[in-house]
Amino acid sequence: MDIQDGERVDWTDQQDEDAYNMFVELAEGDMVGRAQEIMRGVQRMIGVAFTDEDLAAWVKRYVDEHTVICEWFPACENEATTVQPHSVLGLVPICERCQERASA
Ligand SMILES: [Zn+2]
Repeated sequence: MDIQDGERVDWTDQQDEDAYNMFVELAEGDMVGRAQEIMRGVQRMIGVAFTDEDLAAWVKRYVDEHTVICEWFPACENEATTVQPHSVLGLVPICERCQERASA
């Protein structure tokens, strides 16, 4: 079967849940930015197509359901309250203080 880039093939709720759980394992063992990179790599390797929106939903859900430390500034150790798009890292967990500084 030919799978075009970005084409969604038989994507079920169960697969979405499985993919989210894979993301959680990656994000817990490493960092949220790196986990997104790995997920994109896995997607290319196995030809499973998910969209950027799917990935964004997993990142947001992960930050909602877990205690995640802010990754916006390396020295920050506050708990992240949301995520913010970063030009290189994708969606990055960010705390309120860094969000204010980043948008200042
Ligand atoms: Zn912060």
